[in-house]
Amino acid sequence: MSELLFIYSGNTTFYAEDESGRPMYLLDYCADTGIQLIRFLENESQTSPYSLLPGYEKAEEFREYFKDFLVGLLCTGISFYDLEGNKEENPHPIELLEFDERFKKAYNVRHLILHKKDSGFEIQMGYVITNIWDALFVELIKLVENGKLFKQCEHCKRIFFPKDRAEKYCDRWVENNKTCKDVGYLYKVEKDKLLKAYNTAYKTKHAEKQRKIRGKSQSTINGYTTALDKWRETARLELQKAQKGEITADEFMAFLKKKMEV
Ligand SMILES: [Zn+2]
Repeated sequence: MSELLFIYSGNTTFYAEDESGRPMYLLDYCADTGIQLIRFLENESQTSPYSLLPGYEKAEEFREYFKDFLVGLLCTGISFYDLEGNKEENPHPIELLEFDERFKKAYNVRHLILHKKDSGFEIQMGYVITNIWDALFVELIKLVENGKLFKQCEHCKRIFFPKDRAEKYCDRWVENNKTCKDVGYLYKVEKDKLLKAYNTAYKTKHAEKQRKIRGKSQSTINGYTTALDKWRETARLELQKAQKGEITADEFMAFLKKKMEV
């Protein structure tokens, strides 16, 4: 297939073939706007409409690019990216409006008139999509344009659609029939516990160094300074390992108890 129509109506995206001048809806793919994009970015769907388009062999490359883009949009302090991915700080609001107009001109658009059973006619706009890059871009812009809330799950780091701003974790299954929502908070508490233990241990080691160097020669002072720096460097790496579950909490605690090597 070389051409698809992406049709946006309300919150829904319809995907259609357009080979005979009449759209043939591909009902298996139709979904809330943005859902197919997120599934594609997180490599979760076997029935992606994008797989029907030329350029799909580059999916992996685009996946990374667009995910970075979305995560960038979510970061505080970064307001806007232009179409080439260049960061624009503090854009003027009018530019945001023009962005949409520029975007519409850049794509081949077809208007479709839908005869509805109950309420007359509805005009739908279909973007003529001929490659996967355009497909991803159109979907991304529509996702943002619709003002739909999306977030990065604080546990698995995948993009999801939360019910409200307060929701931090997604509903994906992660382990033993548990979702990120089930385990995310517990992991965070555990992570915080590890960080607290690291901070306490560092303070203890620092106080120990101060005690030991009081009234001592410069070489002793240098020795302790180097030893503390080294301990801290290693401890930070161990902390990361423990937070990722590569070593157990007990192993980490045992490390923190080790003496500085002077
Ligand atoms: Zn998650």
